[in-house]
Amino acid sequence: MVERRELTKRFDQINPEQIQDFLALDGFSMLEKALKMTPSEVRDEIRASRLTGRGGAGFLTSIKMDSFAAETGKKYIVCNADEGEPGNFKDRYLMEKDPFQVIEGMCISAYATGAQEGFIYIRGEYQTSIKRIQNAIDESRKHHYLGTHILQSAFSFDITIRQGAGAYVCGEEFALIESLEGKPGRTRVKPPYPAQEGYFSYPTLINNVETFCNLPFIVRIGGDAYRQIGSDFASGTKLISLSGNVKHKGLYEVPYGTTIRDVIFKLGGGTPNHRAIKMVQLGGACGAIIPDELLDMDIDNERFQIFDSKMGAGAIIVMDDSHDLFDIIHRNMEFFAHESCGKCTPCREGHIQLVKLIEKFIINEASQKDYDTLRSLAQVIHDTTLCGLGQTSPTCILSTMEFFPEEYNRRIAYRKRGGQA
Ligand code: SF4
Repeated sequence: MVERRELTKRFDQINPEQIQDFLALDGFSMLEKALKMTPSEVRDEIRASRLTGRGGAGFLTSIKMDSFAAETGKKYIVCNADEGEPGNFKDRYLMEKDPFQVIEGMCISAYATGAQEGFIYIRGEYQTSIKRIQNAIDESRKHHYLGTHILQSAFSFDITIRQGAGAYVCGEEFALIESLEGKPGRTRVKPPYPAQEGYFSYPTLINNVETFCNLPFIVRIGGDAYRQIGSDFASGTKLISLSGNVKHKGLYEVPYGTTIRDVIFKLGGGTPNHRAIKMVQLGGACGAIIPDELLDMDIDNERFQIFDSKMGAGAIIVMDDSHDLFDIIHRNMEFFAHESCGKCTPCREGHIQLVKLIEKFIINEASQKDYDTLRSLAQVIHDTTLCGLGQTSPTCILSTMEFFPEEYNRRIAYRKRGGQA
């Protein structure tokens, strides 16, 4: 079986607005279990699990948690639910279909690290998520899973929702913190990292929705057992947002180590009308575009680094042979040109130039010099920008240069022949 439903096991089994439904299916029992452990014992389990952040960067969650736990005084937990990466919808599903699980994950995280207050930063377009999470917060408070002396323990923690206004860059940790503080969403220079100096300079632990939802699962089976799920390089399950030219688009939960091809064909049913797959974009608009020959690769962060990419937030966007490569990367670069916050020049000006260069390929007017400029500019943006937007946006160009060189060569040759096919 390709799927393994752990974080999604209650989907469509419960009414997401009824806390009793959640409680009847094991809900909050892992918070109760965690409260019987010491905070450092909970962190030991998370460390043993080798859980990695599910928001895109894929770093070990325990490293961030441990350094945050070492901080004293007032500190904050933030759940990043600003899911702005095109092609991703997993966090929306988690919030809409099992919102109490998000609350439970945040509570376990706060208990393990000594935080007292939390925010869920949800993109404003996700109105159903906002409504369901607000209801989950209210019900959890009413039943003493949030607030002071949770379940009659010494642990107190509460959560407030904040709405994002749709800026892609606010998915980046510091831009999100700036936005939480009521300022325009722009990143800050690191270090210090948020775990030391975040929201109004207080230590702040930021994790993605899916990352928090893994914590009850880890407490349930233990860190060692969790590490056995997945591959040698990444443990646990991954939520995949599958879209594009597939018969069965949707959200799937698979163990790390599942191949991309199995997700597309065994879960997604392959392409409609059995057209050939021309390319697949991984992670979202900022991810690598790969050809059909690479689809037997495992879903696994370490492997993806071969093209300086990661599984990111977990999107798989399938494109059949009716699509033009340059149309796709043009649309992506227009998106990033629009979403650039303008703080760094290579990102602010560079994306506009990338769009213009790609347009030359679209109309068969590109020369070898344009190709060289496109490559070097993409690399400069990747190497010199401050935040994840600029550091990852050129990946789709650089990966297509590597995996689809014939597409570039064909357009350049067409111009050389004076437009003769
Ligand atoms: S890389 Fe782009 S979005 Fe990020 S800080 Fe620089 S200008 Fe802003």
